[in-house]
Amino acid sequence: MSKSRKESGIVYLVGAGPGNLGLVTLRAKECIECAAVIVYDHLANPETLAWAGQAAELIYAGKRAGEHALNQQQINALLIAKAREGKEVVRLKGGDPFVFGRGAEEAKALADAGVSFEIVPGITSAIAGPAFAGIPVTSRAENSHVTFFTGHEDPSKATSAIDYAALAKLGGTQVMLMGVERIESIAREMMKHGVRQDLPVALVRWATTGRQETLTGTLKDIGRRVVDVGFDAPAVAVFGEVVALRENLNWYEKRPLSGKRIVVTRTRKQASALSERLRALGADVIELPTIRIEPPSDLREFAELVQEAHTYDWIVFTSPNGVEAFFELFFKLYDDAREIGAVKIAAIGPATAQRVKDFHLHVDLQPEEFVAEAVVREFQKQGMLENLRILIARAEKARDVLSNQLAKLGAIVDEAFAYRTVAETRDDTGARQRLLEEGADLITFTSSSTVENFLALGLPWPNQMQVASIGPITSKTAREHGLKVSIEAKRHDIEGLTEAIRRFYSIQPTDE
Ligand code: SAH
Repeated sequence: MSKSRKESGIVYLVGAGPGNLGLVTLRAKECIECAAVIVYDHLANPETLAWAGQAAELIYAGKRAGEHALNQQQINALLIAKAREGKEVVRLKGGDPFVFGRGAEEAKALADAGVSFEIVPGITSAIAGPAFAGIPVTSRAENSHVTFFTGHEDPSKATSAIDYAALAKLGGTQVMLMGVERIESIAREMMKHGVRQDLPVALVRWATTGRQETLTGTLKDIGRRVVDVGFDAPAVAVFGEVVALRENLNWYEKRPLSGKRIVVTRTRKQASALSERLRALGADVIELPTIRIEPPSDLREFAELVQEAHTYDWIVFTSPNGVEAFFELFFKLYDDAREIGAVKIAAIGPATAQRVKDFHLHVDLQPEEFVAEAVVREFQKQGMLENLRILIARAEKARDVLSNQLAKLGAIVDEAFAYRTVAETRDDTGARQRLLEEGADLITFTSSSTVENFLALGLPWPNQMQVASIGPITSKTAREHGLKVSIEAKRHDIEGLTEAIRRFYSIQPTDE
């Protein structure tokens, strides 16, 4: 975004895509990252808000239980007012902003007010929804045109805007947005105007997300089916011969974790790796941040130890957060990497080792097993520990098994408290609300502190929710809190955990 525009402010009318985080454009992400104000809708995936800056003002403008948080005039006025304050405003809408999203009205209001704006098109649910259900909206053999129409009309219009006679005559593929609740009467009108009763129809709800469900039928029976299974909004309806292609092309709903709702409990920054893997396998992921990384209580003491790091024989890192906190401070104190001196580096676990390597430093010792006891064993393999000076960079209140054991063997150990974890109290993405309302099949724990922090939130445990743990220490903590651990990773990292979950569900009979 250009700086020169800052004085006058600008509104970006941004399409957030149909719900899947991978289907957001690069431009949309850029706009979200830079925005001072984000006005978002019900159907814009709230996970995208995690990309916003800490200081961004987030304003919900969507519908809540049938009531609009803000009406259209209020939204228009808000966008104009914020832009006139000189701010970069993102108006975030589901799908594409100019496809049935009242984006046209908002753009017109901005133009009338003389406010600059940019349109960032998005992937519309009208195309992506069918695609994720295995339905191509066009297919050479079946049709040569597509029609998009809305089943939800402007109530102020005197006559029906849906020209059923024209739709019936037109044929081809017809995609309807909104109005699933009126599907029965819409289908009836179509048949009345001569469309054949056995025309294939599909409804795709929460398309492209882990909650996607598809219902198929014919024009004649779709209304009854919707009622029978209680199929409700948001859904896209597809009418036409192309629906039959789904039989061969259904791909997304066949993934190994399709239909499984999985809670990922991590800090916002770390969550994405696990969530991405689980989503790629088709899971519906609720990213529930329970903790936040904060600077240590005694930053001065930590700074002193970082400054003295070069006087040690070894630095031991026990987590990626520790590596980050250490080097962030290190490079504030020094502008030359060589100030680290001849100190050797040990890292527990591959993710920790990777963070060290990201800083272009060699990892001298990386235990096979990712637990503190194994580090001690590795040190012993390397020879005498007597009088070795070791600095352990770790979280406040973490287990001190490592320093005790190393000290017992004669090492001189100092502990640098690099960061502390505190309970995450914000729920910007509505994750907690979703967990309360919809429950989950599985919750993942990637450290003892994620167990403790999740339980500290005091949320009711959803019925049937099972536990997956990254390794024996995390499992032990879970059991100590009375939880039953159904899955434990063999490899104690994100990949190992994902694999264990995949395997668990591939041998479990599905209950659907
Ligand atoms: N601008 C949006 C549409 C806004 S109208 C777009 O381009 O997708 C809202 C309607 O979009 C909903 O009633 C529903 O019909 C459809 N919709 C949006 N996201 C959807 C999703 N993930 N799954 C199914 N339907 C969706």
